[in-house]
Amino acid sequence: MQAIVLERPGERLTHAQLPDPTPGPGQILLEVAACAVCRTDLHLRDGEIDAPKLPVVLGHQIVGRAEDGTRYGVPWLGYTDGTCQYCQTGRENLCINARFTGRDIDGGYAELTVADERFCLPLPDELPDEQLAPLLCGGLIGYRALRMAGDAARLGLYGFGSAAHQICQVAVHQGRSVFAFTRPGDARTQAFARSLGAAWAGGSDQRPPAELDAAIIFASAGPLVPAALNALAPGGTVVCAGIHMSDIPAFPYEDLWHERSIRSVANLTRDDGHEFLALAPEVPVLTTVTTYPLAQAEQALTDLRAGAFEGAAVLLPPGAR
Ligand SMILES: [Zn+2]
Ligand SMILES: [Zn+2]
Repeated sequence: MQAIVLERPGERLTHAQLPDPTPGPGQILLEVAACAVCRTDLHLRDGEIDAPKLPVVLGHQIVGRAEDGTRYGVPWLGYTDGTCQYCQTGRENLCINARFTGRDIDGGYAELTVADERFCLPLPDELPDEQLAPLLCGGLIGYRALRMAGDAARLGLYGFGSAAHQICQVAVHQGRSVFAFTRPGDARTQAFARSLGAAWAGGSDQRPPAELDAAIIFASAGPLVPAALNALAPGGTVVCAGIHMSDIPAFPYEDLWHERSIRSVANLTRDDGHEFLALAPEVPVLTTVTTYPLAQAEQALTDLRAGAFEGAAVLLPPGAR
């Protein structure tokens, strides 16, 4: 099969001809129909987070077809032990022996993949492959972050990419007011946010017109944490939704005072996946996607780094319908 492989962090992804994968016990063989690109892929590519298995096929937002034609979604959480203290208390996202798709297990930047059937997600019939793929990480980890924001009526979203453009739609559907923060001066993305129902959109260097009850940070820039904290009403929460962030600058305790809090969100549980994939068609969450042929995966990551497209990038293998 053709695959795009990360051999060494910091270097370009390479094209490889690999043997077709063979499913082990409990695994299913899937023909990749579409695989969305995540910022985590970019962090692995750039060496900002560790890639313990090299070479590795990246990609953890996979829409795949089994031999009988059934579509499955393969998300980031690829395996848990089921026995550790976290698994046994409903927090398999924190499993100490978790293995992740496209990092510890070869992922979806390929024509074929194998996945543990217990961690595959059933997909709603309503949406085409390329529109579904971004739901599988940006959408469902974004949704986990939204839950951590509680019942915040005024919600800030910092970094308006794949996750935020989906969560904006969910939050508006739930009757919340969304305040979208983009890179300073990025008028195009601000207009995109308003088109998806954001009540206000501006640069991350601006103050919103109202105090926020919660803010979710999807961007990886640490200075956004004190900025978001500064925009919060008393009792508000800043939720950091990314796997990697640059250092957070010091800030005065006064900014945290009045029961404001800062927390992170790590990975997903299968329940998050089932819940979000049931909700998405109801909203409905409509993803804006830019498709790339699989062979152009490196270009897709370059464009993600540069903020060159709105919404999500999705890779299509040569045989994709
Ligand atoms: Zn566990
Ligand atoms: Zn991801």
